[in-house]
Amino acid sequence: MNAIIKYFSDVAGGFISLLKGMRITGKHFARSYKEIITQQYPDNKDSLRFADRYRAQLYMVHNEQNEMRCDACQTCETVCPNGSIEVIWFREEDPETGKKGKVLDKYVYHLGMCTFCNLCVLACPTEAIKMNHEFETAVYDRSELTKVLNKPGSKVMKDIKDHK
Ligand code: SF4
Ligand code: SF4
Repeated sequence: MNAIIKYFSDVAGGFISLLKGMRITGKHFARSYKEIITQQYPDNKDSLRFADRYRAQLYMVHNEQNEMRCDACQTCETVCPNGSIEVIWFREEDPETGKKGKVLDKYVYHLGMCTFCNLCVLACPTEAIKMNHEFETAVYDRSELTKVLNKPGSKVMKDIKDHK
């Protein structure tokens, strides 16, 4: 007898829960004309807005003189939890000081492995890298997800070099 009562009580409870859910859905449906939050992508590409904290992919900051802030210290490479960064460097003598130091050759970023945790950006002592909002990253060939972030011919900024 108890089992039968429990059965009907469960059915009634399920039905009430269904009605509650439908009431909430109905409320949003009826009000939707007032607060449409769905964005008509890609028609709205020009007006898309992102929160500042949104992280799409890593990029290297360059100024108009094609200078960047990376001194190849490899901190980002070390902190990256999944090996998404490879800092390839060589040693070169500074003609002004005669001191030998590391110079960035290629800053390789594997977008396909990146989890956008931002640890590399936070760890970089010179603020050489940042996250942008370029979220359209689909490609036909996976190899295109491996990018070199330092631009061809770019040099490290003088103030970064002087602080080594
Ligand atoms: S955001 Fe995270 S996973 Fe991506 S490259 Fe930086 S440290 Fe690695
Ligand atoms: S991006 Fe920053 S942390 Fe990474 S190697 Fe360059 S200076 Fe070092």
